[in-house]
Amino acid sequence: MTAIAEILSTAMPRSAPRGSDLPTCPVCADTMVAAEASAYLSNSVVSYLWTCDTCGYGFVTKHPVQQIMCS
Ligand SMILES: [Zn+2]
Repeated sequence: MTAIAEILSTAMPRSAPRGSDLPTCPVCADTMVAAEASAYLSNSVVSYLWTCDTCGYGFVTKHPVQQIMCS
């Protein structure tokens, strides 16, 4: 059972996105650094609006939100 707990702990991503998770522009493949805007679609999904500085292409990504138990 200890092994299963270790796998779960490492598989759970932190709420903060990792650098390798940054999206790339589908037009010019430039790496997006910061989202233009964000909006919650529900309690568990947040969407980010990205605009490419290089070509101006805009797109939206959706991410699951980790529920933080710190009330
Ligand atoms: Zn681009």
